[in-house]
Amino acid sequence: MPPAPTVARALSRRDFLLRRLLPAAGIAATLPALRTTVAAAGPGAAAAGQGAATRPASPEDGPFRLDPLPYPEDALAPVIDAETMSIHHGRHHAGYVRALNQAVAGLAVPASVEALIADLSIVPAAVRTAVRNNGGGHANHAFFWSIMTRPDRSPPPSGALLDAINASCGSLEQMKRNFTSAALTRFGSGWAWLLVTPDGGLTCTSTPNQDSPLMGDAFVDVPGTPILGLDVWEHAYYLNYRNRRADYVEAFFRVVNWNEVARRYRDAHR
Ligand code: MN
Repeated sequence: MPPAPTVARALSRRDFLLRRLLPAAGIAATLPALRTTVAAAGPGAAAAGQGAATRPASPEDGPFRLDPLPYPEDALAPVIDAETMSIHHGRHHAGYVRALNQAVAGLAVPASVEALIADLSIVPAAVRTAVRNNGGGHANHAFFWSIMTRPDRSPPPSGALLDAINASCGSLEQMKRNFTSAALTRFGSGWAWLLVTPDGGLTCTSTPNQDSPLMGDAFVDVPGTPILGLDVWEHAYYLNYRNRRADYVEAFFRVVNWNEVARRYRDAHR
């Protein structure tokens, strides 16, 4: 198992960079200038340029962007059907990006949404809940698309990742049972996670709503760096599985992109 201090160092470095970008005392002072800049390039400019002031804001009207899915909408079928993917990415994820951009309009924000949600305490209180919900929603969904792949391109984990799973969870099968339990016992809407904890180990947990383990112990029960995650909101599975969340969770393991999970595991220890 890699030494614990590496994870702590990575978090500290990120926190340090973020604090330089968003010094708490400097936010109010820099607001007017930044608001002008964002407005010039954002919703105002788009509406003025296209004469469409009543058109809903595009997800791209602001600093955060909705990237395309990394595969066609039908790539995960039959585990996740194309219509679910289309609505989930094109409406739900897009909606989080749009609302996040509206919440941070006029604020100096870090380039990555992960850095933003990793230090919510320095986000102005007036928009903190909106950033928590929609920044979490953006980060969680972008993460979710990345750790899935076609069913025929999902070889099981090996190497250092499998060693870490065995060391922390006992076995791959036991990790899947722990993860499934986290997914099924999350009441209402939320996410199940396999994450690297600050001591360098792996554990399974869940969060409510759009909370992320990246948000830290002021906001979630088990903080850390997620390397595998599953959306258990009903919008993620209801078309295909109706209310059978257990069937959805079981099928999910057929489309896990373990290569990407392994890459994220390596990054978490860098
Ligand atoms: Mn979702």
